[in-house]
Amino acid sequence: PGPAARPPAGTAQEVLNRTFGYPSFRDGQQEIIDHVVAGHDALVLMPTGGGKSLCYQIPALVRPGTGVVVSPLIALMQDQVDALRALGVRAGFLNSTQDPDERRLVEAAFVAGELDLLYLAPERLRVEATLRLLDRGTISLFAIDEAHCVAQWGHDFRPDYLALSLLHERWPKVPRIALTATATEATRAEIAARLELREARHFVASFDRPNIQYRIVAKSEPRRQLLHLLRTEHAGDAGIVYCLSRASVEKTAEFLTANGIPALPYHAGLDAGTRAGNQARFLREDGLVMVATIAFGMGIDKPDVRFVAHLDLPKSIEGYYQETGRAGRDGLPSTAWLAYGLQDVVQQRRLIDTSEGDDAHRRRLGTHLDAMLALCETIECRRAGLLAYFGQPAVTCGNCDTCLTPPESLDGTVLAQKLLSTIVRLKRERRQRFGAGQVIDILLGRRTPKVLQFDHASLSVFGVGTELGEAEWRGVVRQLLAQGLLAVEGDYGTLVCTEQSDDVLRGRRKVMLRREPERPARAARAERP
Ligand code: ADP
Ligand code: ZN
Repeated sequence: PGPAARPPAGTAQEVLNRTFGYPSFRDGQQEIIDHVVAGHDALVLMPTGGGKSLCYQIPALVRPGTGVVVSPLIALMQDQVDALRALGVRAGFLNSTQDPDERRLVEAAFVAGELDLLYLAPERLRVEATLRLLDRGTISLFAIDEAHCVAQWGHDFRPDYLALSLLHERWPKVPRIALTATATEATRAEIAARLELREARHFVASFDRPNIQYRIVAKSEPRRQLLHLLRTEHAGDAGIVYCLSRASVEKTAEFLTANGIPALPYHAGLDAGTRAGNQARFLREDGLVMVATIAFGMGIDKPDVRFVAHLDLPKSIEGYYQETGRAGRDGLPSTAWLAYGLQDVVQQRRLIDTSEGDDAHRRRLGTHLDAMLALCETIECRRAGLLAYFGQPAVTCGNCDTCLTPPESLDGTVLAQKLLSTIVRLKRERRQRFGAGQVIDILLGRRTPKVLQFDHASLSVFGVGTELGEAEWRGVVRQLLAQGLLAVEGDYGTLVCTEQSDDVLRGRRKVMLRREPERPARAARAERP
């Protein structure tokens, strides 16, 4: 079937009511739409589920010509266009998945002025033929979706986005609206600069998602901890579980299925057909758990995702916020649960050290990771930490783990001194480098083969840390890492002191630590491995 006939476009309010069938605008939408309809540029920050699409779809219908939408979400274009056509909006898309005949039909419709919205993959704009095509039609506006992809400082950089500055050069009179669900103030400034959006008004909605309960726990047996959470709090619920590696995605999906929880894997190593099939099942069926790498989720509109669980540490707060933001788009109570441990920090540092790119890039990745660690180890409200990171004012929370069960804090100066001085002593053994395991064994006075091999039982710090158990010492290590009083290096996660460590060792700086909460009770039912 060809594109549906266009209903007479009226005012923004009329389009909202008649075409989209909604009685009223949500917070912020009307202001943004009026601004763009009037022909001005806009930079829109709105959390996932906030209703960004209408902010360019309605102006595209109200203004004469075709609204050109640049989106990296090629896999979703067909669905988006189908949904719009079902509403009587004349929409089409151009991307690499089409055959030439399909493409020609869309191009002809655009040139004939028969399209309200045209979705384009960013790489299309690198092709001169596309630019010439756009010259032949009337463009009502440019919408740049997922605009944070243009920012190298951000977490999801796509080189194709850099070419988008030419939109303004080539069509200076066409208003542009850039939209994203995640950006710090630094990223926002970079978006504005790279897209030549200097005159654009910034519309920043609150990033608070009050229905999401944020919880971050120490990782011990991640899959069993996850299973416990799902059985006790999310039986029968749909949710997403994020893992860092493909192997861990596969194992976790199998583990959940073996334990009676229907779960599907999703990662870039699966063939396109399996991925599309699993995604479609997740969207359409009830109570499925998607176990995925972060390749999954951008642009997914499933309102009743009741939990998002991370079994590995996200690389940045932007990523964490965006991934957890996929929970609870319907506004109902939902859980964002993250389990993380020392090994995550070691692993992420190694990934950064071996990553491609220059030193500045590695430093940027390191800064992102540090901020994520600080959020994990904070003794304050998680929501306040998230909002502060995005430069937004704090709100009353009462719905995160630290607000619900305030962690006890303690003066950990002596503990930190014991740990740091052990590390200093080990450093004197130049040729050998030791990770947290050996340091903790020494503090606990354990005569392990490795302790005996290196004669570490003769160190003056041997056995001085028996007031804590191993898990608690690991917590101390993590917290010192998060506070910048300790760093990890190299393939084996060697612990090293930082410049600030010295102040602690010399008693010039006090260290406050969070007391590790009791481990949650194990699920009573039998678990299969
Ligand atoms: P975002 O792109 O910001 O993540 P969407 O544009 O996909 O969010 O909108 C999220 C959901 O909210 C969609 O299902 C959309 O139809 C709905 N929605 C958006 N604006 C309104 C409104 N004014 N009234 C009712 N529902 C709305
Ligand atoms: Zn809180």
